[in-house]
Amino acid sequence: MTGKLTLALIPLSGCGGCEVQALRALALHEDLQERYEIVYWPLVVEETRLPEKIDVAIVEGLVRTRENLEMLREARLRSRTLIALGSCAAWGGIGGSADSFNPWLSMKAIYGREKIEESAEMLPRAYAAADLVPVDYVISRCPPPVEHIALALRAIAEGKRVPVADSTVCSQCPREMKPIEQLEFKPGLPGPDADPNTCFLSQGYLCLGSVTTVGCGAPCPRHGIPCFGCGGPHLEIAERRDMDIVTALARKIATLAGLDPANDLDKVVDMLLKTYDPRRFYVFTFASQVLRRKPHGYAVHALASTRRNPVFVKRLEERARFAQGEE
Ligand code: SF4
Ligand code: SF4
Ligand code: SF4
Repeated sequence: MTGKLTLALIPLSGCGGCEVQALRALALHEDLQERYEIVYWPLVVEETRLPEKIDVAIVEGLVRTRENLEMLREARLRSRTLIALGSCAAWGGIGGSADSFNPWLSMKAIYGREKIEESAEMLPRAYAAADLVPVDYVISRCPPPVEHIALALRAIAEGKRVPVADSTVCSQCPREMKPIEQLEFKPGLPGPDADPNTCFLSQGYLCLGSVTTVGCGAPCPRHGIPCFGCGGPHLEIAERRDMDIVTALARKIATLAGLDPANDLDKVVDMLLKTYDPRRFYVFTFASQVLRRKPHGYAVHALASTRRNPVFVKRLEERARFAQGEE
């Protein structure tokens, strides 16, 4: 025994970006190297079996295969503290967007057949790890910042609670929110004529900053790109049963437009859903069960699955024919 806490990192179906961030957190913070002993992490150590008991386990990625599901369950059973790292583990992440399409159609499009015997068994849909087992902490974002990971690991090692952020990206954005004079939404991304100092919402563009959790420093709106919500929803949306991404966004827009959120909310929600593909609001959270259970969350997900983007479906079908050598 080294007197250190044992640490395992279990990759599920992710891109590895969260793992790189976790690795950087440990490499850059020597105090963490003194407090943790890595006992399982396929990228870093040779051990191939998950130990029976682990002090801190981190899962990265979403749950897409039966093997992912089994590893997640084992991680929960064997660990004292379980962390869902990154937007994929917390909310389904960008990979969860695939959940609006039949997985076997996607397999056929990419590999030319619906099933590959030697590959992992795919589940019928994608899941956020945090929806399937109780997790002790969520460190969201895509990828999560190194400092957030270091802060959490240090707090756990010191027996403290990991602090939870309760503000939004807007609190770090330098753009000024101004009243909306005429309520209309522009479907595309802001062009060169957009005012660089004014909030995107005030200019009629979709920006998810006001519904996304704080912590990234708002790099996207600083560089002329609206927030796509990679950090995941802010605390109030995550916790309140009656609050979802679309409702909270519509409330902010209604207030900026001088409307009464109590009476005009449905009108703004309707306008948003008519202008944008419903998946725009859930780019990083589409697979989240928590958000689907919310009032508009349910409606938006139903809408997204019935209004499957015909262009994308056509592209999938073309790729399937190509993969089968028909073109
Ligand atoms: S949250 Fe982002 S960085 Fe992490 S595994 Fe998912 S896609 Fe990769
Ligand atoms: S909505 Fe977007 S552009 Fe407006 S203040 Fe928030 S982050 Fe900045
Ligand atoms: S501004 Fe939004 S999309 Fe950009 S890094 Fe922050 S949370 Fe992610």
